[in-house]
Amino acid sequence: MRIEIATLFPEMCEAVLGESIIGRARKSGAIELNCRQIREYSTDKHRRVDDTPYGGGMGMVMQCEPIYRCWQDVCEHLGTKPHTIYMSPKGRVLDQKKAVELSKMENIFIICGHYEGVDQRIIDKIVDEEISIGDYVLTGGELPAMVLVDSVARMCPGVLSDDECFMDESIYSGLLEYPQYTRPEVWEGEAVPPILLSGHHKNIQNWRHEQSLEITKERRPDLFADYQSSAEASAGKKK
Ligand code: SAM
Repeated sequence: MRIEIATLFPEMCEAVLGESIIGRARKSGAIELNCRQIREYSTDKHRRVDDTPYGGGMGMVMQCEPIYRCWQDVCEHLGTKPHTIYMSPKGRVLDQKKAVELSKMENIFIICGHYEGVDQRIIDKIVDEEISIGDYVLTGGELPAMVLVDSVARMCPGVLSDDECFMDESIYSGLLEYPQYTRPEVWEGEAVPPILLSGHHKNIQNWRHEQSLEITKERRPDLFADYQSSAEASAGKKK
């Protein structure tokens, strides 16, 4: 997968996406990620990329042309149009299902807005979908883009090792994850649940599943109801 991020703050994205698992995946070539400075595509002599909003109002609006030129450059480089996303509080809220869907794409182009956002005409012309990371407003699209990239990239082949596999994690499995413990066996007088020291693989699996069910039922009754109905549906199919 190749991800291109169009931003006014490429250093901010590089600082985060050059570290840890995603940084390693970039080095190994499991994913390709490139941050583009939108200002470099401005034709203005001061590399200006924003202007005041028509109709009045506060703040500045990012202009179409620099974003369009950046996108065209990427299209030319790839020889195809990438799936284009605008990070926006007006978009569909990101969830695991959307992250899974995006992880199967070959090329993604992400636009990070700033100030009051971007001119609607660039959205209408090149954007396939708008994605929000939650019902709150941030100052720019960089943090949302990083959240999106992290959630998507970790599901691309070769990014996580088997040990770090995402499949039995919270949400992906349909349930919230069971509690995890590591050494020491007793910490501040609190012992690890004895079942985890039993070495009995099947019993440990059952205990973890029970814990997942309990936690999900208590904290996320919506997920629990979905999980129950899909478990019932697949039990019905097997009959
Ligand atoms: N005026 C816009 C509005 O009311 O919808 C908000 C603009 S916001 C201050 C600046 C930029 O931050 C947006 O263009 C978007 O790219 C990004 N942004 C802010 N909150 C976001 C969120 N919850 N999800 C995704 N992107 C967000």
